[in-house]
Amino acid sequence: MADGTESQSRKLLRRLQAALAEAGAGQERLDRITSIIAESMGTEVCSIYLLRDSGTLELCATEGLSSEAVHVTRLRVGEGLVGRVAKRLRPINAADAPSEPGFRYMAETGEERYTSFLGVPIQRLGENLGVLVVQSQEERRYSEDEVYALEVVAMVLAEMTELGAFVGEGEAMAARHQRSVVLNGGIGQEGAAEGHVFLHEPRVVVTNPIAEDPEAELERLNDAVDQLRTSVDEMLSNAPKGDKEQYDVLQAYKMFANSRGWMRRMEADIRNGLSAEAAVEKEQSAARARMETVPDAYLRERLHDLDDLSNKMLRLLTGQGRDTGAELPDNPVLVARNIGPGELLEYGRSLRGVVLEEGSVASHAAIVARALAIPLIVNASRITTEALNGDLILVDGDQGVVHLRPEETVTKAFRDKMAMRAAAQERYSSIRDKPAETLDGTVIGLHMNAGLMADLPSLPSSGAEGVGLFRTELQFLTRSTVPRRGSLAALYSRVMDAAGGKRVAFRTLDIGSDKVLPYMKPQDEPNPALGWRAIRVGLDRPGMMRMQLQAMIRAAAGRPLTVMFPFIAQLEEFTEARNHLLRELDREKALGHVLPESVEIGAMLETPSLAFAPRQFFELADFISIGGNDLKQFFFAADRENERVRRRYDTLNVSFLTFIEQIVARCAETDTPLSFCGEDAGRPIEALCFAAMGLRTLSMRPASIGPVKSLLRRVDLREVRSVIHEARENGAQSVREPVMDWLRQQG
Ligand code: PEP
Ligand code: MG
Repeated sequence: MADGTESQSRKLLRRLQAALAEAGAGQERLDRITSIIAESMGTEVCSIYLLRDSGTLELCATEGLSSEAVHVTRLRVGEGLVGRVAKRLRPINAADAPSEPGFRYMAETGEERYTSFLGVPIQRLGENLGVLVVQSQEERRYSEDEVYALEVVAMVLAEMTELGAFVGEGEAMAARHQRSVVLNGGIGQEGAAEGHVFLHEPRVVVTNPIAEDPEAELERLNDAVDQLRTSVDEMLSNAPKGDKEQYDVLQAYKMFANSRGWMRRMEADIRNGLSAEAAVEKEQSAARARMETVPDAYLRERLHDLDDLSNKMLRLLTGQGRDTGAELPDNPVLVARNIGPGELLEYGRSLRGVVLEEGSVASHAAIVARALAIPLIVNASRITTEALNGDLILVDGDQGVVHLRPEETVTKAFRDKMAMRAAAQERYSSIRDKPAETLDGTVIGLHMNAGLMADLPSLPSSGAEGVGLFRTELQFLTRSTVPRRGSLAALYSRVMDAAGGKRVAFRTLDIGSDKVLPYMKPQDEPNPALGWRAIRVGLDRPGMMRMQLQAMIRAAAGRPLTVMFPFIAQLEEFTEARNHLLRELDREKALGHVLPESVEIGAMLETPSLAFAPRQFFELADFISIGGNDLKQFFFAADRENERVRRRYDTLNVSFLTFIEQIVARCAETDTPLSFCGEDAGRPIEALCFAAMGLRTLSMRPASIGPVKSLLRRVDLREVRSVIHEARENGAQSVREPVMDWLRQQG
């Protein structure tokens, strides 16, 4: 970069700083800024467009264009050259703008006289805030240094916008973080919540983007980088051996912390007048913008790592720690980019809801949220940049929608919906002690799914007959070392105590695939969902499973014990797993422990292959439980974690229902008890259709028992069966519509 331009850029920033420091309303400041930029850059025009809403830009200040056009000229993001800069978050530098593709002539601005155009995005951390434009009459292509200088200025404008320096009248100049925002995400856990935002990681605010003394700033940057390198080295030497994922991340940190390119760019920014933190944030913004467009998942991960590292640097430079002392507000809704299961458990039930910018439906956090029965939305893009601590937030976990700082009318409609739910729950409590008996006298057993000790108090209040699925992963996922047999036995024993003699089906560890234990070497597998997981790990490395079985046997001590093995795909796997349990029973007996009063050994049917297993399998299993979440993903070959496809195939697709019917028939041949414990069992219409297909036991979230029971008690299953039969005969793809129509007719 030429020295001359460097000082020009610094001079420009200094003049801007003085202009910003002067008192005055937002509009006056913007006006002053446009004239300073035009003068410093030797252009006839300088204009600032700010986003009015997520799709529209508004001309908010100009030097050179018609002043009549200010707050009148609007264009859509993507429209004209200005709109294209906003859309692509990249500069456009055109010597002859009218001949550029996409040029749109805005007559009211009087811009016909200007030929050259340079527009740069005003963006903060990848978020689009507006566009800064300079134009000239002469046909000229702006130099790299000029583009760079304008970008630096745009970065300062973005920071000042965030700090509220340009607040004025009208939408485009409304204060930041005050507008209502609606974000769509993925459903991690159903349910609805109203509360106030609590940011897991409070944002760092840069209050001094422009600096007087580059030498002092360079020193601050170097000190911070030194500290960062030391801490990354420490993290690397303390990292648990064998955790490849963590190792990769730390190596990436190390690489960035030592990257000359990264340092050089930040040093240049500082020499051009930015403060050390503004230089870090400028790089961070560029990385965020790239993150949106990089298709390669690995590279995207690395850009995330750079983002994390930038946050660490900003904390070092500003002294703003993670713990700001902010207290949990009333009805807290946790907002985070992502969160580990242990951290989420620490917040525990105090939370009303969780909204994650990333995360996935089957992440560990989602498992915890499910266990805690807290509504969770994942993939809510921009939530961490939009939300401020204390903001009102509505979480609609049924639709996957978040309303941040909602309008009165939205809040009112949401509250009405919550009140209707509460009233319905109230109604359900009146049938809590009644059986789920249909009008034709069929009784369906309703059980609950659980995974935490904390779930068990819901057993009596939900009216569940027992625990149809106790997921045992959480105790393994939320700690850094393998839990001890003694502590597991104590936990399982407390679970049985809390169930008060009702049956609890303990599922052995279902890990692998997405559920990687912190102390287990992650496998590099092309298709983890089809890979080394659940019983496959249990049989190949039986140590942990045997320890778990011992803990279950000791917990039962004289009481009945029910164990089920996940993800059994063929008879032999079940026989082997069962033999492990039988051997452990013998061993425990020899060691003098009290054995369970009785032992039931079941299998989860989660792969289509098991439905076609030999008759001997059905004879050997004491019971079978359909793991519908997995079974459905394999039946339709549609990844349950992939938002693009996971809702593509309806559970009530006739093929899937016919398959369920066939499983029921196979179990009937051998009198093998059958249940269904995937999430679909808790959806009333699905539950009804499963019952019509012959299922007599369903296991679900405690909160679903009321709605499912209430519907079952209102219908005659024979009629439902004939509606399904007729739809099938007529070639329907899904029976949902016909069943819903029939239900409507019933009133
Ligand atoms: C299932 O697959 O339906 C199931 C109950 O197990 P998980 O959701 O834990 O895989
Ligand atoms: Mg499963």
